[in-house]
Amino acid sequence: MTNSQEFIKAAPIIYTLNEAGYEAYFVGGAVRDLLLDLPIHDVDIATSAYPAEVQSLFPRHFDVGLDHGTIMVWFEGETYEITTFRTESTYQDYRRPDNVTFVQNLEEDLLRRDFTINALAMTPDHQIVDYFDGQKDLANQVIRAVGSPHDRFNEDGLRMMRGIRFASQLDFAIERETFKAIKDNASILVHIAIERITVEMNKLWIGVNWHKGLSYFLSTDLIQYVPILADYKHVFSDLLDLTSDRVQLPDENFAWALLFWRVYELSGHKDITMIQQQVRQFVKAWKMSNQSQKEILAYLEIFIYRTDHTEWKLVDIYGRNQHQIELVETFIALQQENAQVLFKTVFKSNNPQVIHELFKALPINSLRDLAINGQDIIREINPKNKREIGQMLKYLEQAVVKEEVINDQLALLAYLKDNYQI
Ligand code: ATP
Ligand code: MG
Repeated sequence: MTNSQEFIKAAPIIYTLNEAGYEAYFVGGAVRDLLLDLPIHDVDIATSAYPAEVQSLFPRHFDVGLDHGTIMVWFEGETYEITTFRTESTYQDYRRPDNVTFVQNLEEDLLRRDFTINALAMTPDHQIVDYFDGQKDLANQVIRAVGSPHDRFNEDGLRMMRGIRFASQLDFAIERETFKAIKDNASILVHIAIERITVEMNKLWIGVNWHKGLSYFLSTDLIQYVPILADYKHVFSDLLDLTSDRVQLPDENFAWALLFWRVYELSGHKDITMIQQQVRQFVKAWKMSNQSQKEILAYLEIFIYRTDHTEWKLVDIYGRNQHQIELVETFIALQQENAQVLFKTVFKSNNPQVIHELFKALPINSLRDLAINGQDIIREINPKNKREIGQMLKYLEQAVVKEEVINDQLALLAYLKDNYQI
């Protein structure tokens, strides 16, 4: 689907609102991304209709953010957020507005938005409404706050993180006054819920110019006001020196692992238990999921393994995630091509293609693939201590992976009887 088809698909929603006598426009990120010819994520709509009126015009809806005037509407298999024109006022805690006031005109609604490039609106026939020179900033690749940057960041400190996140995602520069206001107000970030910061930071890492995003994270001092990372300023600088910005990071957990791998490398004592503990503390402080923790730790182990070994051994590949190893190897290969000499000294060789072959060569992929199970061991060997069974299976698993015995029931039993010390 081309970009404008997303809007063609959603146009009937706008027409329905128009026919009922309301104004309605496409707004925000979707309009920005259309003009940049980037993939569109969600098409958001702003309207002069009140939420109750939107609800009655679109029976298939959920009330997702009724307090903020947002109704989620189902239409032709997609969902769209329709938000009543509104302003926000009296932000007392630097995060959420205490008061949302519905207004009747679009300009006031656009005025509450964070950056000029996000404050564009569009009609279904592609007329752009642009009160703050957002199109000019798009053309010049600039992130500029709408109105007074100082005021905008004092209303909502998260916008500062959004600003550097967009710099990374779009490869845009932050306009001077906007940059200065972030730097002056960076400490406001301590009032922002960490979950929201995590979302922005994760998007920053995987942006097309993550180096630019990270450089802003450092130069704006935002890094000073997030948990734990303030201590790692030198690690970020090291990572920027070590890597090329031409190689994007495949996912956010990969990115965090890359950072902690540098923490580990630079720490001097190279203590695995300690770095794993540091990752767990970090994940907790940043309120990330258990799944993220698992993935960060897995990637970290892969990075550490590859720093210590020039290539993968079959026994070491066993039990790991093929996709994760391939992502790391591909990253190493691309960095080798693009990065400074330094990176080349860390990883001596690489060959992402062999990983696939290695996994194919594994005789088993998990304990379940063993040609023998606990029942078989009870029947054939019947160890007095039943706890031995698990250890025996692990012993055989290792032997099969090391290719010391073939994965065949009789061979495994014979091997066990000959070699395992009960
Ligand atoms: P993404 O590609 O991440 O979805 P987006 O610009 O669409 O980027 P959203 O968080 O989906 O970002 O928000 C939609 C729109 O709402 C933004 O384009 C912006 O106009 C406005 N907006 C979102 N968050 C804020 C905020 N914290 N302050 C002011 N305006 C905001
Ligand atoms: Mg969006």
